[in-house]
Amino acid sequence: MRALVYRGHKRIELENVPDARVPAPDGALVRTTSFAICGSDLHGYHGPVNEERIGSTMGHEAIGEVVEVGPEVRSVRPGDHVAVSAVVGCGRCENCQALLTARCANSETRVLNLGQAEAIAVPAADSSLLPIPDGVTDEQAVLLTDILPTGYKGVRGAGIQPGGTVAVVGAGPVGQMALETSFLFGPSKVFAIDQVGHRLEEAERLGAIPIDASQVDPVEAVLDQTGGKGCQHVIEAAGPQATVRIAFGVLAHGGTLSQVGATTDPEMTVNLMALFGKDLTYRVGLVSPQYAWPELVPLLQEGKIHPERVFTHHLPMSDGPRGYEIFDKRDDGVIKVMLDPTR
Ligand SMILES: [Zn+2]
Ligand SMILES: [Zn+2]
Repeated sequence: MRALVYRGHKRIELENVPDARVPAPDGALVRTTSFAICGSDLHGYHGPVNEERIGSTMGHEAIGEVVEVGPEVRSVRPGDHVAVSAVVGCGRCENCQALLTARCANSETRVLNLGQAEAIAVPAADSSLLPIPDGVTDEQAVLLTDILPTGYKGVRGAGIQPGGTVAVVGAGPVGQMALETSFLFGPSKVFAIDQVGHRLEEAERLGAIPIDASQVDPVEAVLDQTGGKGCQHVIEAAGPQATVRIAFGVLAHGGTLSQVGATTDPEMTVNLMALFGKDLTYRVGLVSPQYAWPELVPLLQEGKIHPERVFTHHLPMSDGPRGYEIFDKRDDGVIKVMLDPTR
């Protein structure tokens, strides 16, 4: 089968790899029909060469059709159209049962890095697969595999109260999900901080106040527009130290910072005294997409949110390497790229 394979710094290639098969009695084989490129795929792409990952398949945001299931699978059957959770666990431990898959006690693997291929071997199918409900489009279903639950986790973690002030640091795809779902909770003001013009324009269309960090000091700009207080609810949706610092900087005293941007920095220094003085709450961690499906699916079905607007580019899988390049360079008005594995 064909897959997009990591070959080193800024090198993704379309290659033939061994066919996927049902990985275990509780697993399933899914033939993909669409998949997306994630910001976290870019960490490997533009970062230093990761020798261990050379030759491995990229991606973790896919939907498709179930082709075959193991004998222990109960919730899906061949022919079902499904979204594949980006985060997988054993499906049986206490945390998996509570939909906290990212905290699975029995699985070393967290993110399913197999998604950009013609077929995927899905472990623990009952917990990893969402049969795509009526009224949810394919584009929306792809977003349910990862970034919509991720942005929403940021919003939930920030505990937005009606009338509260919100800042989303990073208005890329995950930030867009956080911006859109933050409005569900009735904030008085939502700031969107980024350096990319077309991302800020998209945030403004949602009703957010754009802050262009390439033009102004974003911390000063937010303090200026909040009477010097900062925001009570801050969502960090990018990951690098620089944006985490901005997130702490725009946070009001007594506020909550909820970080969902995937970081690749092993450590960062913070001014503990300044944090102590702020009396703040800091939440950070990997999403369990499953936890959010029961809340997000009805919102999609009823047309209350339209996150699919982030798909600016649809390309055939054979153009995958170019898709990575466009997404990485933030060229061509790109926010998010969808790939078609049948072409
Ligand atoms: Zn992702
Ligand atoms: Zn588990």
